[in-house]
Amino acid sequence: MECYYCKGNLVRSTSSYYVRRDNYHLVIERVPAWVCEQCGEPLFEEKEVQTIQEIIEDMDRKVDALAKAA
Ligand SMILES: [Zn+2]
Repeated sequence: MECYYCKGNLVRSTSSYYVRRDNYHLVIERVPAWVCEQCGEPLFEEKEVQTIQEIIEDMDRKVDALAKAA
């Protein structure tokens, strides 16, 4: 497998995943990922993306509820 950006070699490692929403920013550390040896760009697999998606959906609901309670 090669990097989508620079064609460098990808190695199994971990990377942080950053997401910015209207009401919060979330950084998840040490997410398993393929990381480019050359430019450091991470490539996340479907399984991890799915889990992160579920976390974000849950966060969206809870943060919205919190904002409405203000
Ligand atoms: Zn690269």
